[in-house]
Amino acid sequence: MNVLKNYINGSWQVSASKETVDVVNPANQEVMAKVPYGTDTKIDVSQAVSAAQSAYSEWRNVPVMKRVQVLYKLKSLLEDNKETLAKIITDESGKTKGESFGEIQRAIENVEVACGTPMLMAGDVIEDIATGIDEMMVRQPLGVVGCITPFNFPSMIVFWFLPYAIATGNAFIVKPSEKVPMTMMKIFEFLDQLDVPKGLISLVHGGKDSVDALLEHPQIKAISFVGSTPVARYIYSKGTANGKRVQAQGGAKNPVIVLPDADIEMSSTIIADSVYGCAGQRCLAASTIITVNDEKREIKEALFETVKSRTTGYGWQENVNMGPVITPESKSRIEGLIQMGINEGAKVLLDGRNTKVSGFEKGNFIAPTILENVALDKELIRTEIFGPVMSLISMKDIDEALAFVNTGNYGNMACLFTSSGASARKFRNEADAGNIGINIGVAAPMAQFPFSGWKDSFFGDLHGQGKHAIEFFTQTKVIIERWPNIWSRKF
Ligand code: NAD
Repeated sequence: MNVLKNYINGSWQVSASKETVDVVNPANQEVMAKVPYGTDTKIDVSQAVSAAQSAYSEWRNVPVMKRVQVLYKLKSLLEDNKETLAKIITDESGKTKGESFGEIQRAIENVEVACGTPMLMAGDVIEDIATGIDEMMVRQPLGVVGCITPFNFPSMIVFWFLPYAIATGNAFIVKPSEKVPMTMMKIFEFLDQLDVPKGLISLVHGGKDSVDALLEHPQIKAISFVGSTPVARYIYSKGTANGKRVQAQGGAKNPVIVLPDADIEMSSTIIADSVYGCAGQRCLAASTIITVNDEKREIKEALFETVKSRTTGYGWQENVNMGPVITPESKSRIEGLIQMGINEGAKVLLDGRNTKVSGFEKGNFIAPTILENVALDKELIRTEIFGPVMSLISMKDIDEALAFVNTGNYGNMACLFTSSGASARKFRNEADAGNIGINIGVAAPMAQFPFSGWKDSFFGDLHGQGKHAIEFFTQTKVIIERWPNIWSRKF
C-alpha cells in the first residue's frame, strides 16, 4: 500500500517515520493510502523548517509584485483541476460532489484576494512629523510559519492562510489532517509547479507529534490552526508560551432563531441545508434551531417535510444530498449523542441511526435526524455534535432566544430568520458570535472578510482570510528618519 510522502525542500521525500495510519474512504471503508504518523515525524518537521528558513531568506527579497505572480498560476491550476480535486475530496472526506466543488471555489477566491497583496500590505508614511523628519510604517514577513488543518475541509482551509503567507514573503509549512491528506498531496502537485525557491512551501504529515514539533521549533514564527476547541486551546497556549504568533479556530454549536414573521418555505430550506450540508461536519453548521412562538408548529412542520426528503449516500452520485460522516468512531459518537439527547428528555422526530446505503453497506452513514424539545439544562444542548442532527427548541420571544444564544460557550455563528428589519438589527448588534447570518444559514465570510469566531470558537486576535491574514503574516516596523537641509559638517 502506498505510503504518502512529504514534500520538503522542493521534492517528494519518504518520511523518517515507519509508523503509519490508514486513510480510509468513509463511504466504503476502502483504505486509500497510508500516512506517516508517530514520533519520528518530528524529524520530517525539522528538515522542512531548515529548508524553509533558507528559502525564506531568498523569497523575502523578491518584490511583492513578483511574489504574487505565482498565485495567478496557482489559480489556473486549481481551476483546471477542479474535477480531479473534487473527486479526491469526496472519496476521503465523504462530501457530496457539489460540496467538494464548493470548497474548491472558496479556496480559489482566497488565492484571488491574496493577488491584491501589493496593495493590501502597503504601509503608511507621514512626511515632516517634525521639520526634516519623516516617519513610516512598513510590513515585513515573519519568517517560517506553520499551518495545521482539520478533516472537514481538505482543500479550502489551507487557503485561508497559504496565499497570504507566501505573498507577504513568508515560508509556509502545512500539516494536514491525517484523515484527509490525499487532497493536500494533489494540491502540492500544483504547488510543485510554481516558480518559488525550494523549500518555500512544504507538506509534512502526521498527528500530534508533528504538530508539537511545529509548536516547539524556535524558527517557526507563527501558527495557524483550525480544528476542535480542546486542540485549539492547546495550540494557542503552547504556541504563545513558545513566543509564537497564533491564530486558532475552534469548534462550534451554532444557534438559529426563527421568528414567527420569517418566510417559512425559504427559511426551512436554508436551515435544512445548513444543518445537513457536509453531513453536519461543518463549523458553520446550524445545530440548535430555536422556533419563536410557533404554537401552530408551522416552522417545525416545514422543517420536517424538507428534511425527510433528503437522500443519504456516496457523495459522488448525482442524486445524493448528504454523504457519510468521517469515521466509524465518529458515527458511534454521534449516535451516542442522539441517544443521550433522548435520555435527557428529547423527542425524536426523525431518527437517522441504523441507516444502510445499498452498495455502500460499510459506509459511516447517519441519515438526517431531528430531536425536539432538547433539554435546556442538560449536556446535549451545549455539546458540539458535528453530525447530521437538528435540535429543536421553543422560546416565547426574541429576547429569551437571544439570552439563550449568548449563554453558549461557543461563538462561531448565530443566525436569525425574520422579515423584520428591527429584529434583524437588534440581533446582529446583540448576538455574541463572530459570524452572523440574517436569513442566511451558513454565514461563511467571503475571502475579503476575516473568517471570524468568538468565545471558545477562536483563540487569538487576527483571523484567516483577507486583511486579517495580511496583518497576521506581517510584522510592522516603524522607521523615523531625519534628513536635515543643513548638516553641521560637510560630506
Ligand atoms: P481536530 O482538532 O481533531 O484536528 C485538527 C488538527 O489537529 C489535525 O491536523 C490533527 O492531526 C491535529 N490534532 C489532533 N489532536 C491533536 C492534539 N492532541 N495535539 C496536537 N494536534 C492535534 O479537529 P477535526 O476533527 O479534524 O476537525 C473538526 C473540528 O474542527 C470541529 O470541532 C469543527 O468545529 C472544527 N472546525 C472549526 C472551524 C472554524 O473555522 N472555527 C473550521 C473547520 C472545522
